[in-house]
Amino acid sequence: MSSTVKASAPAAEPREQGPNFIEAIIEEDNRTGVYGGQVVTRFPPEPNGYLHIGHAKSICLNFGLGLKYGGRTHMRFDDTNPLTEEPEFVESILGDVRWLGFDWGTHLHYASDYFEQLYRFAEELIKLGRAYVCSLTAEQISEYRGDFFKPGRDSPFRQRSVDENLALFRDMRAGIFQDGQHTLRLKIDMSAGNPNLRDPPIYRIRRARHHRTGDAWCIYPLYDYTHCISDAIEGITHSICTLEFEAHRALYDWVLAELKNIPPGASVAPPRGSPKQIEFGRLNLTYTVMSKRKLLRLVNEGHVEGWDDPRMLTIAGLRRRGFTPASVRNFAALIGVTKNDAPIDMSVLENAVREDLNASAPRALAVLRPLKVVLENWPAGDVDHVDLVNHPLKPELGTRKVPFGRELYIDAEDFEEQPPKGFFRLAPGKEVRLRGAYFITCTAVKKDAGGKVVELTCTVDRDSRGGEAKDGRKVKGTIHWVSAAHAVDVRARLYDRLFSVENPDDTFLEQLNPHSLDVVVAKAEPSLAQAAPGTHVQLERVGYFFADPKDSKPGAPVWNRVVGLKDSWSKEKKKG
Ligand code: ATP
Ligand code: MG
Repeated sequence: MSSTVKASAPAAEPREQGPNFIEAIIEEDNRTGVYGGQVVTRFPPEPNGYLHIGHAKSICLNFGLGLKYGGRTHMRFDDTNPLTEEPEFVESILGDVRWLGFDWGTHLHYASDYFEQLYRFAEELIKLGRAYVCSLTAEQISEYRGDFFKPGRDSPFRQRSVDENLALFRDMRAGIFQDGQHTLRLKIDMSAGNPNLRDPPIYRIRRARHHRTGDAWCIYPLYDYTHCISDAIEGITHSICTLEFEAHRALYDWVLAELKNIPPGASVAPPRGSPKQIEFGRLNLTYTVMSKRKLLRLVNEGHVEGWDDPRMLTIAGLRRRGFTPASVRNFAALIGVTKNDAPIDMSVLENAVREDLNASAPRALAVLRPLKVVLENWPAGDVDHVDLVNHPLKPELGTRKVPFGRELYIDAEDFEEQPPKGFFRLAPGKEVRLRGAYFITCTAVKKDAGGKVVELTCTVDRDSRGGEAKDGRKVKGTIHWVSAAHAVDVRARLYDRLFSVENPDDTFLEQLNPHSLDVVVAKAEPSLAQAAPGTHVQLERVGYFFADPKDSKPGAPVWNRVVGLKDSWSKEKKKG
């Protein structure tokens, strides 16, 4: 495995270096004028699932290039396999691309819109002697194809006449044959070194209802044939795809070159464009799986709640978790594009959202694991309202009054009965600062029958209001708190990485992180119970949270932890 790109790489700011290798190609094309200075890209998903963070990389890349070079980017559904495609996926994909902030204008296209043209091109290729109907079974075709080391063998049907091929192909369309009985294949070269050029099938018979064309067709074109032609029809200039298509480029170019030979007066004119295919390294992320097949198993076998489970690296999951569109775009800009597939460390993505939310999310106090504190020298019923800043980087957001009284909650983790060296929070006889409020010192510890600490008694220094002692004495620790009398109970879902290993493999279902979700009832500042769904907050010293847009009810938000304040995983790794 090649090295992983770590979070310690440059901060999440868009590159300021020179053009990447794709931009360099585009700039050279603009200089020489091959495309008349035009840049037209496309994002071409198959509507057979939800988009994930890898697709987001491709979306940002394609739409980003359209914007950067004053061109445009088409949204195109590569919908040639009716068995797996559904309108639900079309809708979710469009919503996700829009959410990322991109706009295809009037250019929403479907490969299925080109079915009639694709069919006519196929007839023309037959007439040019470049395609034939083959009656081998699928197994035979793959057997005849050979492999990387073994040349293929000609199909016994390769020499059918143009007339016979045309008649058979028309009968295929007319529904005379059974599924799988024949295919239409390109006539290229069965001994080609590149197996993709060994007479690839381009049409198959498949009686299935298509999400857009219904029952109009019983033959469907295959991906390689459809994709290059769709690009050329739409006038795409730069057709950007992932590296596994590198060996398909020769076929892409072959089909488009042959279509140029369609004579004037034919039933269809050659497509106008001459797109160029460019490959880049797909995104792989540590601590996750990206293949649709694996994501589908997580959903179908109930390991997650659904495609939009906040632990899923689908765009729907990231949205619900509370990632922002800007954080995903910044992530894509930061990782850039290269010709290799080295995995990116999950912390790079987490840092991107942390940086974005640090700048925007208002601050609030809540305690996830409440431990009661009683201030023995603070009169019962006496309430102070201390001023806390709403955002340290944005004074214009002002301050808010937070109630403070005799009984408080602090986080159980901020107290140690026997503090280890370097523990600067609360301990018997020790003093800490309560964020923005007062200094307190622990004087007694109350335990239950099992020896568990259930309550602390403390004294408060009333002269330290605002968090500064009058006599100038310092404390090292500052902890967060809420007033017990005013606190509200709020549900918080503490999400963490879905997998506990860096590179989940085929046993990924056994590599799930058992602690990827912990649900707690937190004690919070009253405002946190009122927040509208879809609101962000930074719980001071805890992390960034997002009021779940689906499960929150008016006045009763469910808070999802987007990400903690620090990268706890890199610490874990160092420890382990
Ligand atoms: P499959 O083809 O198995 O259904 P896919 O992930 O390739 O899955 P598509 O819908 O074909 O799904 O992908 C749409 C676009 O997104 C393609 O251009 C593809 O290259 C790109 N893409 C998919 N996965 C990644 C990834 N991990 N990193 C970058 N781009 C990706
Ligand atoms: Mg694909």
